[in-house]
Amino acid sequence: MEILSQRIQNLAESETLQMAKLSRELRAKGYDIIDMSLGEPDFETPKHIREAAKKAIDDGFTKYPPVSGYADLRQAISEKFNRENGFDFTPDQIVVSTGAKQSIANVMLVLVDPGDEVILPSPYWVSYREIIKLAQGKQVTIPSSVENNFKITPEQLEQAITPHTRVFCYSSPCNPTGTVYTRDELKAFAEVFARHPHVFIISDEIYEHISFRGKHESLAQFPELRDRVIVVNGVSKAYAMTGWRLGYIGAPQWIAKACDKMQGQITSGANSIAQRAALAALTSDQSETDKMRDAFHRRRDLILGLINEIPGLKPNKPEGAFYLFPDVSYYFDKSHDDHIILNADDLCRYLVYNASITTVTGQAFGAENCIRISYATSEEKIKEAMRRMKEALAKLK
Ligand code: PMP
Ligand code: GLU
Repeated sequence: MEILSQRIQNLAESETLQMAKLSRELRAKGYDIIDMSLGEPDFETPKHIREAAKKAIDDGFTKYPPVSGYADLRQAISEKFNRENGFDFTPDQIVVSTGAKQSIANVMLVLVDPGDEVILPSPYWVSYREIIKLAQGKQVTIPSSVENNFKITPEQLEQAITPHTRVFCYSSPCNPTGTVYTRDELKAFAEVFARHPHVFIISDEIYEHISFRGKHESLAQFPELRDRVIVVNGVSKAYAMTGWRLGYIGAPQWIAKACDKMQGQITSGANSIAQRAALAALTSDQSETDKMRDAFHRRRDLILGLINEIPGLKPNKPEGAFYLFPDVSYYFDKSHDDHIILNADDLCRYLVYNASITTVTGQAFGAENCIRISYATSEEKIKEAMRRMKEALAKLK
């Protein structure tokens, strides 16, 4: 009998990856799809990083690496944290994993017991929700909306915390909204957390280098929280290395040790070649990353200008990452031919089949009135996609 575990039956498929798959399939069938679903830089991994990986193979980095990552890579990450963020993580507080996604899963699985509460500001990244399910935690959501640029307040945070709260997990710059918290806003959250010493914080900083606000700010910078913030980062976004699958954490040592134990039984550690490439990425000239950030900044301005010309869409103003998260509820209950739009899922589907654009429904991120548009694509494609979107939406009456 083909019966799967309750665990996997209860798990939702990643909507971001599902839409990316649909884009690939439709393209293979010959459709001219513009993929705005996947959060993936369209740039190639910089050449010097690719060269470092080739050299790693020739130099014999082909055996099992230490479970937490090569010592020199953990040293480089420790120095990166110190140099760029002012964080004080020693190499034995660092664990390198198969993508930041696995880093988050490790931390959640080592901290959360069945029934423990995990607070997510909403909209949240799609995989947090499912990883919490895997850990049998209870998701507690703090809502926000486009009117306040998708920011939660310290009062909301205070109200959400209970004696059962175990973890607060957030990303800034945020996926899916691109929202970036300022130092003062984070400081106000830190004051709330200072009153609740039982709460751990997962600070997902994977978009650190794609911020249009300048200096990156993090909850980890406040000394009063230092022994309970886990910083998650990785090379996917900053160095256009999504396929290499390399992420890392800086964490209190007892948590890092538990993550080492966890992945020692699941993956044995991150891929050796990718680790050597990551070492090159973190220790070399960062100008390619700056160039990519500037390109994303220009594209943000471009897409925001174009989307403002589309009636009914209420966009936010993202200050980082490469997503726009407009409220599309104006189009609910409208229709064209036999397409009836009842919700964001319907609108995404409508855009696939009437505009050949793939986006991701806000429902995946806990925001049912929105859709996520990834602008990690060329300026020409952004212009063409917005032209098609405007035309297709105009048909909805
Ligand atoms: N956190 C956020 C907010 C993300 O958008 C992503 C997707 N890249 C990840 C973590 C996982 O990144 P990685 O490719 O390193 O697994
Ligand atoms: N994080 C990216 C996204 O949200 C990549 C896909 C994924 O890892 O889910 O689109």
